[in-house]
Amino acid sequence: MKIECPNCWQHFDVAPSDLKGEFSCPACDHVFTGREALKLAPRSRKPWIVTVVVLGLLLLVSVVMNFRQWHQLDLLHQTPPLARDSGQQVNLAVALIENYQQELEAQKERLAKLESDMARQNNTLVVQAGTLRQLNTESEALTQRLKPLEELHKEYSLSLMSDQLEAQRRRLLKLSQEAAGRSGN
Ligand SMILES: [Zn+2]
Repeated sequence: MKIECPNCWQHFDVAPSDLKGEFSCPACDHVFTGREALKLAPRSRKPWIVTVVVLGLLLLVSVVMNFRQWHQLDLLHQTPPLARDSGQQVNLAVALIENYQQELEAQKERLAKLESDMARQNNTLVVQAGTLRQLNTESEALTQRLKPLEELHKEYSLSLMSDQLEAQRRRLLKLSQEAAGRSGN
């Protein structure tokens, strides 16, 4: 049987015949009689209390979760006195249950439709992502092809600018020669 040290509450097994003697706790060396150990035996009832509390909580949760169904079944008690025949009550309960089953089926169908819609939308998104990737690749390829053209354009602009500068230089030279000619006269 199990006993408990009254000093450190350590549990250990002893033979029932040993309860008449004394024990030395192997955990804390406290010396106590079998009678002292037995006084604390009710502590072992605690797991039973925990079980009751857990079961009570489960029952409460179940009541809360089933409240809606119970509330609707309660309509049975609000039916007119004529319907209060037990056979009719059973029929009403069966009808209510069938109604729930139909509702459940309808919700399952709605869920299945939603799932297939989501799958379709997902496919569309995958396709769109693929198109975007392709467009991106094409755009990069175009940029690569445009690079030499940009270089050409830069060179062309430079040569155009140098032509313009050359023309300007000639104009200035001509102007200075004309000025020199005028001052010579
Ligand atoms: Zn002890």
